[in-house]
Amino acid sequence: MRNTFLPFSKPSITEPEIQAVANVLRSGWLATGPNASRFEEEFAAYVHCPAAVGLTSGTGGMHVSLKALGIGPGDEVITPSMTWVSTVNLIVLAGATPVFVDVDRDTLMADAARIEAAVTPRTKLIVPVHFAGAPADMGPIRELARKRGIGVIEDAAHALGTEYRGKRIGAEGTCIFSFHPIKNITTGEGGMITTHDAEFADRVRRLKFHGLGVDAFDRQMQGRSPQAEVVEPGFKYNITDIAAALGRGQLARADEMNRFRSALALRYRERLAEMDEIMPLKDPPWPMLHSWHLFIVRLDIDRAGIDRDTFMNCLKKRNIGTGLHFRAAHLQRYYRQAMGFKRGLLPDTEWNSDRILSLPLFPDMTEADQDDVICAIKDVLAEKKQ
Ligand SMILES: *Cc1c(COP(=O)(O)O)cnc(C)c1O
Repeated sequence: MRNTFLPFSKPSITEPEIQAVANVLRSGWLATGPNASRFEEEFAAYVHCPAAVGLTSGTGGMHVSLKALGIGPGDEVITPSMTWVSTVNLIVLAGATPVFVDVDRDTLMADAARIEAAVTPRTKLIVPVHFAGAPADMGPIRELARKRGIGVIEDAAHALGTEYRGKRIGAEGTCIFSFHPIKNITTGEGGMITTHDAEFADRVRRLKFHGLGVDAFDRQMQGRSPQAEVVEPGFKYNITDIAAALGRGQLARADEMNRFRSALALRYRERLAEMDEIMPLKDPPWPMLHSWHLFIVRLDIDRAGIDRDTFMNCLKKRNIGTGLHFRAAHLQRYYRQAMGFKRGLLPDTEWNSDRILSLPLFPDMTEADQDDVICAIKDVLAEKKQ
């Protein structure tokens, strides 16, 4: 057994990135400033999108997006329940109604047919999730949304560097990225909205900084115009220069880090192929490049003879950390109790919610670390069979 704990994720931070953050600390300008502007430009260039807006989190990005689209009471927003709860929380906090769609059993993504079946005259927005680093099938989803005049905001928290039909996620439509420390690049906490809609870009830019008609940092002013006035009430979600300086260094290494993730993921697939109790997710059939944000497997609880939570605990006792992405949102306490969602509503989501776990995967993980994971899994399964 390993004698040190292997976390399921760990950010990769280099000395130049630490220096860049230190330089910001020494510069006298800590909040939104020149680094934030450059990070937005470099991010927009990376995903091939005309506009990018830096934020304190992906969740903050979803908040200003829902506000910008005027989502409120009486509106329905279609989202998978197999997602991070922030989206669902914000829909409810906006006074709107989340409408959950089931996901494909092996990719954990909702397709256009499932989404179309959930559309009603009240549907205002669809929030597809690019899951674990693979892209959702956006072609048909965009097409149905366009025909019916419904908005689409892509949850791209897992999709930095992901490609769909030869284009990076973010190169089309409106996407929200996250730079939480477990994501493919990090700024500590942070997020980015990318959009092709110039009006939407202006609106979220304003809403993320008090609703002032200016940004937090004006390059001519080298600060914020003191005459700025509130155009509409806004929030306070502007990214700091401390975070942006780290983000710029991370973004420059994004493709390299994704290649490390990819090599480890393919090695996991080979090693796990012989284990009947462990079922990795499958690649979607459409042309894509996977960014391998997460390596998710499902435990065959009948074959293994233990439930998923016990399995995760057994791995933890062997110094192997795991993650859970995600427990179905509609089965969490508030959504069951206050909104009446019940088991049975989304069979494939629930089946996965009971069986999924994320194995350690991060750029600086070694093959020896990975061998420890495989050994621990074999050990737990063998012990349960006795
Ligand atoms: C991480 C994550 C978010 C939220 O991002 P934050 O930056 O942590 O607010 C949203 N959706 C999904 C699917 C995520 O994994």
